[in-house]
Amino acid sequence: MPSGRTHDRITLWSLPWVVGVTFLLTRSGELTLMVAGTFLFSGLMFGPDLDIYSQQFQRWGKLRWIWIPYQKMLPHRSVFSHGLIIGTLLRLLYISSLVAIVAIFGVAVAQLIWGFPWNWQQFAIAVGRWLSIYREEAIALFTGLELGAMSHSWSDWSHSAYKRSQKKRSKRLSSKRGKQGRTKQRSRGAEGQRRS
Ligand SMILES: [Zn+2]
Repeated sequence: MPSGRTHDRITLWSLPWVVGVTFLLTRSGELTLMVAGTFLFSGLMFGPDLDIYSQQFQRWGKLRWIWIPYQKMLPHRSVFSHGLIIGTLLRLLYISSLVAIVAIFGVAVAQLIWGFPWNWQQFAIAVGRWLSIYREEAIALFTGLELGAMSHSWSDWSHSAYKRSQKKRSKRLSSKRGKQGRTKQRSRGAEGQRRS
């Protein structure tokens, strides 16, 4: 696999392209900033390699333990971490369920202390409404995350394809050499018989 540093470099080198193309397509500085920000975040610490002890994982610092169950659930380079769209969707689902658990607990404690009214159903409706009002922004944020993850998976795949072709090449070369060696031996043997 390409090293973590190579993955970082790919993310940073792709950033100007992502910014340029997004701005050309959207003509919006805000949306471009969102795509660029989430692209960087995804490439550096929210990418597919969270399924292993990687640089992305280490960048979560004291919070990195939250990804340990994720690593236990998914084998490295599984389609659920490295796959198109599904990888990002699953990570989002994973992190939002963790946030939800913390939020439910936090709200329950806060309600006990301050006793304010809270309705999760209304909260979910408000989130849904927010998503429909800010649909473009939500799409931009998701696109950035997905592009960051894809730049990673794409370099993983092309790296292994390159490795595979190198292996095939060296196998072909060694079998060729083996054959040449054998024919040489055979012709030498024939010469020896002729001489004797
Ligand atoms: Zn990877």
